[in-house]
Amino acid sequence: MEKKREEGRVRVCELVSQPILLELFSMICLTGDVHQRSYRGTDTPFSPFSEVELTIKYAKIAARYGIRITLFLTGKACLEEPNDVRNIAQMPHCEIGGHTFAAFRDPWSRIYRKLFRTPWGNESHQARDIVKTIETIHSVTGHRISAWRNHSYLQTVESPRLLEAAGIQWVSDDVNPTKRSWEPLSGNLGSLPINVQPDHEHLLHGKYQIGKSKSSKLVGRVSISEWVEQVKGEVQVIIDDGGLATILAHPLCMEVADGMVAFEDLCRFLQPFPNCWVSGVNP
Ligand SMILES: [Zn+2]
Ligand SMILES: [Zn+2]
Repeated sequence: MEKKREEGRVRVCELVSQPILLELFSMICLTGDVHQRSYRGTDTPFSPFSEVELTIKYAKIAARYGIRITLFLTGKACLEEPNDVRNIAQMPHCEIGGHTFAAFRDPWSRIYRKLFRTPWGNESHQARDIVKTIETIHSVTGHRISAWRNHSYLQTVESPRLLEAAGIQWVSDDVNPTKRSWEPLSGNLGSLPINVQPDHEHLLHGKYQIGKSKSSKLVGRVSISEWVEQVKGEVQVIIDDGGLATILAHPLCMEVADGMVAFEDLCRFLQPFPNCWVSGVNP
C-alpha cells in the first residue's frame, strides 16, 4: 500500500510544487457507515447479519485489494458488539470514525424530533452526543477518532464548531459531485465532500425494488451493476481531474444489493489508485 502512495506522490510532484497538496491529487477514499445491531432501518430486514458483522466481510474484501477504508460507527454499535468492533479497529487498513451515538434512535433525539422536527434539537444535546460517541469509541477500541460523518448527513449550523471543539478534524457530510477536493470549514476542521453518488439513495435494493415500492420512490435508482459502473466512471473522471474521489458504500447496502459481489468488483477497479483514510487527507 505504501508503495502505491509513493507512486501517487511522485506523479503529483511532477504536477504541482506545493507539498500541501500532495495527498489530495488523484486519490480515492472509500468510506462506509455502520449502525448498531438494534437499529431498524429500511435495509435491516433484508440481512440476518448485523452491520458490524457485515463490516468484517466488507473489510476483508477491501484488504484483498490493498484499500484503506474509513468506517463511521455509531457509539452504540461499539457497545452492542464490542469484540467485533475491536477486531475491526485492529485491522491495519481500517480507520474508525464517528456516526453519532445512536443514529438518532436515542430517547432525546426522538423527543427533539417531535418538538423541533430535527433530532439534534438544542446545541447541548448535539454536543453531548458527539462527546459520548467519541468517548465510547475510545473506550471500546482504544482509538481517539478524528473523522466524523453525521447520520443522514444531518448537520446544523453549530455542528462544525461542536465537532471541532470535541477534537474532530474531518467531517464528511457534504454530498456534492461537483467538488474535487477537501475544503476548510472552521479552524482545524476540514470537510471531505462525498463526490461520488452514494449507494443507499441510488440503488435498487432491499425494499426499493420495482414492484415492491411506489414508482415515485424509485426515481433515480439503478441496479447494483449499473450503480457500480456509474461509480467507476465518476471515480475515473475525478482521478483524471487530479482530484480526491470520496466514495460512500455501506456494508449493509452492498450485502443486501448482491452479497457484496459488486463491492468486490469496485475494489478491484479501485486497486490501482492511491488511497487514503479520511484522516489521511493532510492539509
Ligand atoms: Zn447512518
Ligand atoms: Zn441501503
